[in-house]
Amino acid sequence: NAEESDPGYFRSYARYDIHRQMLLDDTRTLAYRSALLTLSNNKRVLDVGTGTGILTLFAVQGGASSAVAIEASEPLAPLAQSLLAANDPNKIANLFKGRSESYQTNEPFDIIVSEWMGYALLFENMLPSVLHVRDRLLKPGGAMVPRRATMSLGFASARTSYHLLGHRQATPAKDMAWGDVYGMDFSEVGRRWHAEELKTATVMHMSSATPTFERNPDILTTDAVFVDLDLQTCSSDDLEFTRPFRVDVVSTDAAQSMPTNTPHPNSLHSCALWFATELADGIWLDTSPHGADTHWGQVVLQLPEPIVDARTIEGTISFAREKPSNDNESARGYDIALTYRIVYVDGTSSSDEV
Ligand code: SAH
Repeated sequence: NAEESDPGYFRSYARYDIHRQMLLDDTRTLAYRSALLTLSNNKRVLDVGTGTGILTLFAVQGGASSAVAIEASEPLAPLAQSLLAANDPNKIANLFKGRSESYQTNEPFDIIVSEWMGYALLFENMLPSVLHVRDRLLKPGGAMVPRRATMSLGFASARTSYHLLGHRQATPAKDMAWGDVYGMDFSEVGRRWHAEELKTATVMHMSSATPTFERNPDILTTDAVFVDLDLQTCSSDDLEFTRPFRVDVVSTDAAQSMPTNTPHPNSLHSCALWFATELADGIWLDTSPHGADTHWGQVVLQLPEPIVDARTIEGTISFAREKPSNDNESARGYDIALTYRIVYVDGTSSSDEV
């Protein structure tokens, strides 16, 4: 059985709702379509993790000379098989049911396409499977789709999204009167809850639906690109790193228009992370909060205390793969750590970490 070595992961892709969400995400799907229509003519294409078969079918529409679609998840592989049969009348594409790691062929590929990106780009840890197949089966001079990936961060206020968050981001330790819970002091529960919140990254959809703003009104700093991966050449060792960043606080003007009961309208409550991938020359799939929303949203790290009156924030961000444990044999998560030094408008400074 193809799923044997990682059953939980492949079972998660056996839910049709995940595939529905990906297909409905037209920012994502149209970017892949346009890259594949541009690149595929007369090319031999490999699709790693084909799901419903969609990317392989775009390659066929783009004039691929042959294509192989790989899928390990039951019952997705047979479903993809029947969708290929129905939509690829000339039988350009073939399905391989199993893990890409075990796929063998004597005919290497001109193009390897995959939609391997997870939350904060690397969550799910599917990229190593794609790099493994790249190193074995991409022709010299062949193209990876995507070919490049960047990750960025910016510090955010919870002011416009406050209603979405409930009281999570403002002053998490004080959101509930823990000192007076039905007349009793439950402060210890509050402290533990706050500590737990700080340890967990949250997926949020911060993109502003209105075209009024050029930048997301919640991101109150410049953006910093902290990682830039060349997917034609990088190795899986490059997927764990510590990188420096520096951002300037840009504007607090928009805060004037916030409802007066918005807590801390000018302060920074969180650090938001997002990614972009270049699928083909100039064709980017961008999950930034400044643009259209995608099913990835942004990944948000809560800050221990709101930052008020800052001028610059500089520090380091590190990504490390979660260690496999007994109850989690194939860890596909990441530990993200942020350390930073804040320089305030009055010239003083302080440091913190998440
Ligand atoms: N390409 C599809 C699905 C992307 S989701 C689309 O764009 O809509 C990723 C898919 O890759 C899932 O269906 C998952 O089961 C599959 N997958 C992940 N790692 C794999 C591996 N090592 N071998 C084969 N399939 C894999």
